[in-house]
Order: sequence, then C-alpha cells, then structure tokens
Amino acid sequence: MAGLLDQLTQPQRDAVTHVDGPLLILAGPGSGKTRVVTHRIAHLLEQGIPAWQIAALTFTNKAAEEMGHRVNALAPGAKVWMGTFHRFCAQLLRRHAALVGLAENYSIYDTSDSKQAMKHAIAAAGVSLTHASPEKIASSISRSKNRLVTPEMLQGQSLGPVEAIAAKVYPVYQQHLLTANAVDFDDLLFHVANLLRYNPELRSDLDAKFRYILVDEYQDTNLAQYAIVRALSIDHPNLAVTGDPDQSIYGWRGADIKNILDFEKDYPSVTTVRLEQNYRSTPNILRVADQLIRHNRRRKQKNLFTDNPEGQPVVLRIFESGFDEADGIADDIVNAIARGDATANDFAIFCRINAMTRSLEHALRNRGVPYQIINGVEFYQRKEIKDLLAYLHLINNPCHDVALARVINTPTRGIGAKSIEHLRSFAELNRIPMLEAARRASEIRELAKRSATMIAKFVSLYDRLATKATAPLEEILRFLVTESGYATYLENSANDQDENSPLANVDELITAAVEFDRRHPDDGSLDAFLEQVALVSDTDAFEESSERVTMMTLHASKGLEFPRVFLIGVEDDMLPHARSKEDESQVEEERRLLFVGITRAKEFLQLSCCKRRSIRGDFRPVIPSPFLNELPLQEIERIETKVARDWFNEDFDQSYPDSWDLPEIDVEQSTAPLSVAIEPDEFNQDVPSVELTDDSTDTGGTSSVQEKGKKRLI
Ligand code: ATP
Ligand code: MG
Repeated sequence: MAGLLDQLTQPQRDAVTHVDGPLLILAGPGSGKTRVVTHRIAHLLEQGIPAWQIAALTFTNKAAEEMGHRVNALAPGAKVWMGTFHRFCAQLLRRHAALVGLAENYSIYDTSDSKQAMKHAIAAAGVSLTHASPEKIASSISRSKNRLVTPEMLQGQSLGPVEAIAAKVYPVYQQHLLTANAVDFDDLLFHVANLLRYNPELRSDLDAKFRYILVDEYQDTNLAQYAIVRALSIDHPNLAVTGDPDQSIYGWRGADIKNILDFEKDYPSVTTVRLEQNYRSTPNILRVADQLIRHNRRRKQKNLFTDNPEGQPVVLRIFESGFDEADGIADDIVNAIARGDATANDFAIFCRINAMTRSLEHALRNRGVPYQIINGVEFYQRKEIKDLLAYLHLINNPCHDVALARVINTPTRGIGAKSIEHLRSFAELNRIPMLEAARRASEIRELAKRSATMIAKFVSLYDRLATKATAPLEEILRFLVTESGYATYLENSANDQDENSPLANVDELITAAVEFDRRHPDDGSLDAFLEQVALVSDTDAFEESSERVTMMTLHASKGLEFPRVFLIGVEDDMLPHARSKEDESQVEEERRLLFVGITRAKEFLQLSCCKRRSIRGDFRPVIPSPFLNELPLQEIERIETKVARDWFNEDFDQSYPDSWDLPEIDVEQSTAPLSVAIEPDEFNQDVPSVELTDDSTDTGGTSSVQEKGKKRLI
C-alpha cells in the first residue's frame, strides 16, 4: 500500500487516507478523482474495514466494472459493492419489494415498455392531448418522481397546464405499474428513497450496513439519488463524493447541480479536498477547455494546471460537408496508423447525437479500419431480442401486461389487435393482469369463439414455458425459441448472409445467456438476468483494450479518456442542440457537454464542423457553433479543406450563408462575468426529451444513404 500512496500527489493522498466523516473531492477533469475513489476503497480495506460495509456508486455499469478491476488489482478478492445507483436500488428493492406493494419478482420496464404503459394510462385517464403530448406528460411524471413527488402530493396544487394533465395520468400510470408488478427506471430510485424515508428501522439498519459510501460523478445526481445517499449516511456519515460541477450534463434528466454545491452545507463537518493538477491532457487542450467553460455564468472558477508537455495545438477543421468530414477524419486515422504513430484504439470520435456516426462508420469501413460504436442498448432494442425478452419477462412475472401484449400474437397465432383490446378491458375492469384475463377468455363475451380458442392455446403454451422458470437460462431460452414457434418464424424470414440477421442476434442472446449461467452458477435466476439486461447502459459495450476506433456520444464519453479525440459536428443547433437554445441554463449545460468532450483528450484534439450537412435526409447549409467563438482562436490551428465547388448545384451555393469566417474576437473581453451565484433550479422548465439528446436516432439511416447518393455527384 505504501507503494500505492507513492503514486499519488499530497492532496490525492489526503483524500485516500481520510477514513471517517464526510469527504468532498471537488476537482476538474483528469485530476484523479476516480483514481482517488479506487485507491480509497483499497485503503479502507487495508484499515480492516469489512468489504461488505463499503458501497461505491458509479454513473455507468462500465465505470463500476472498471473500478472493480482497479480495486481487484489493489485488493484482490475483496467483495465491495460497486455499481450504478439504479442497480443498487434494484437490489435493495428486490429484498424489500413488499414495503412498496410489489412482489419480489417485479419487472423493470425499459423505455419502450414504459411508453406503452403510459399510452394506456393516458387513454384510461381520459385526458385531452390538445395541450400536452404523451412525451411531455411522461417527462413531467418523470420529473415528479425524480423530485420524490407522489401523485397524492400533486392533489390540490396549482399547476401549469402540462403538469395539471400529467397529475391526472400519474396515479393511473402508477396503478398500472403496480398491477403489472413492475417499475420504470425512475421508480427504482423513487421507491427506494421512499422506503428509506418511511421505514426508519430499515433506514438505520442499512445505514449501519453500508457504513462507507463513495459516489463518483456526484454532480450528476438527482434529488432522489441525493435523498438515498443522505438517508444512508445519517448515523454513519462516512460519505465520500467526488465531482466537478462543470461536468454536470444530465440536468435534462433531473440531475441537480446543487447537490454537489450544497454538500458543504449538508455536512458541516466535511473535509473538502481540491485537486488542481491535471494528469490527462496537454496544456493546449486544457487552455481551450478552460476558456470555453469560463463563459458559463453560473459556476465557480477552478484552477487547473498540468506538468504535461505542451503538445500540439488544438485543431479546428472546417469541412465542406458531412461526408468530407467523415472521409477527412478516416484518412487521418488511417495515415497515423500506417505511419506507426498510433493504433486504432488511440482514437475516439464524439458526436452530439448517435445518428451522426453513420457517415463515419461508412468511411472507416471503406478503409478497413476496425471501429466500435458505443450504444450498448441498441442490441436490446432489436425486434427479435425484445420479443424473446418479453417472453422471459412474462415467464418471470405473469403480471407483465406489456410483455403479454407483445408476445401473445408473436409469432402470429390469429389473435388480432381487437381481441387483445378485449382482454385489456376485461383485465382493467376486474383489476387483474392480462394473462389472468386470458385464462378467463371464455367469460369475455365480446371475444369471437375462434379467438377464445387461440387465446386458450397461448395460455397452455405459456404454462409449458413457465415450467422452465427455474432452469438455467440457456435451457429456458432454447426451449422458448423452439416451443413458441419463434425459430420457425425466423427461419422463414431469414437472410443468414447478414451478420445482423435476426437469427444471428438470437444466437448472440443465447451466448449472453450461456455467459450469464457461467458467471452465476448459484444465483443465476431469471430475474437477475432480466435485471442486468434492463439496466444495460449505453457505455456497456465499450472495450477499452480492443484495437478499434471508438465512436460515441458526448454524454457517453463522461469519465473516459483517449489519446486522440475528434469531436464532430460542432455546429449551431447541434451543439448547442436546437432544443436547448431558448433557455440560458440549458445552453450552459450544452457548453458543459462540449467541455466534457474536450477534456477527454490526452494528446490531440480536433473539433470539426462542416458547411453543409444532411439532416433528416435533407442536405442543407449549417452554421458553426457559437461556442467556437468562445475558444482561444489565436492559439488554435484552423484548417479549412476546400474541395472543388462545382460538385453541388448552383442554387444551393447561392443560399449558402456567408457566416463562415469566424470573427476575430478579443477573448479577454468576451469572457462572460464569472459568478458564484447559482439560480434556483427551474423545475417547471421543459427539459429536452430523451430522443433529442444523447441517444437520438431520429435522423435515422437515411442521412448516410443520402450522403452516399450525393457523393456520386462529385
Ligand atoms: P474526470 O473528471 O474526467 O472523470 P478524474 O478526475 O476522475 O477525471 P482520473 O480519470 O482519475 O481523473 O485520472 C485522469 C488520468 O490521470 C488517469 O489516466 C489517471 O491514471 C491519471 N492520474 C491521476 N492521478 C495521477 C497521479 N498522481 N500520477 C499519475 N497519473 C495520475
Ligand atoms: Mg472520473
């Protein structure tokens, strides 16, 4: 351990060797916050603290896994609890489900399950959608949960128009979830926070059990997460949090930057450690990041220095089009690899929304450069995977109505949409799950005789499948695929030339099941597998050691680092995103997002934008991000790649804005006044919906097809 402390600076060592009492590690990017957390766990273990008294909460599964490896290297075999808040809560809730009216085998609804449930709740509540879209209602309910507001608390309150409608849907939606023995993602936190609030004995038991709690990336916790760690740190306030308010990028999901800023008020006996040395980036990169973030008014200025060598200037590259950008970056990567300067895994490409990776993918594939796209959830969104998982959900939890509605006629069994609606109405009327209604199909007068027979056949299939519920997962899945007729259904529509064919995907799911069985020989239960799948996050697929270029959204890049970073599409309406521009605090969050991206780079950083881009299939002019004007342009190397202008039609050129020459600006003068004042958060503002932020795929596959098509014009 002495050797390990040697590798730390004095302030890092102070944080690592702090044992009892609250600890706040407040520091900028690359200063070793995460490193301190892992070393601190090893140090606690060395002090004789039992592993089971320590819980480390991370923002992604990947971060937890990384932490696991690092702690294992420092303290082999220690069984410290490490994982995301959601996983932590899922496990606590499993043990105490009855306290919130759930059964132990409850299901976790994914985003699309929740959407379905919301759709039915809106219909059942009978509200008008003239003034509030389903998305707005869903996001209002989600905000309430993240702020620990129950449906009852909203009664009698004066609310805005959207909130008033949401308040009517909220209790219906919750009742649906309860009947389905299910929770959505927000509920995991909401239920656990309430469990701790209303069950003082349980709270104090858990406080005593988890005596040492560590939270990395604390700036991105929401009120529910805050309430949970606070409740577990009353009798034993050994709570250590690390964070950087400048990297708070999940406000749109309810994260509240005040949690970290008020930590010192919440825990007056806190020891605060500031880390000021950056070990990750070159001074060039750090200066660019620092100049940018100074433009946020609501922040505290931090000092950050580095002893790293100066390195090369940050590059701002302006391309003619999105596909020139993709080609240019792919060429640079190929050349660097060919020269032997770098390997593929040195490179990362970040973008604001997922859909932007398409043309890059194409360019890299053409050049034979291996790459990985970090979008772990995507696999589980595929139709065949969702179908099979829905069967598994229903086997595990017969009350899972969304799963039942999905599989009852998949593959086709002659049970039409109308019959399913009759089942649903009967179920709602009798307050029973739909599977139960299916068992009583003969009592439903509206059902045609033939439909009732088909439904009875489905119920008997279900009962056969359910006999396997406690078998190893591989066995359940293989039985399910044949018995349900799914294999035949896929074979008939198969094209096995395609590596992404449904059959290949099903094989991949079976492989995941085999792997799960292997890892969990004793406790490999179906609900544990489903829980793991439900809590997959978009960084999970990332393999650091693989020899591949990594592409991901800026949101997913948090906490990571790469020698060479390309940040694409630094354009107006993209970054800042169009949806965020009406609100100054959202623009500040977008600026933090760019700051996070910039500070991932160790040695080389290129920001790029282009003059035209294909957006939702429409090829049109775009203008540079206003954030570019906030950078120290005098020390940035600007490269403008001109290609022959006659490749595109003249009309278009005429409509092309002349705003390309970024004005020379006096950086000192333009620096926004710094202020430490933090405004009260805007509960009532509309946060952008999920689709329009980190995992948007709304421009779909058409963009790259369009771009490819256009390119042939050259
Ligand atoms: P972020 O805010 O981006 O999450 P962080 O503060 O968590 O950053 P780390 O990821 O812990 O920073 O550290 C950044 C890099 O610097 C890592 O590669 C880490 O190994 C290295 N590093 C941190 N402290 C030291 C040190 N004392 N000596 C050498 N390398 C260090
Ligand atoms: Mg970190």
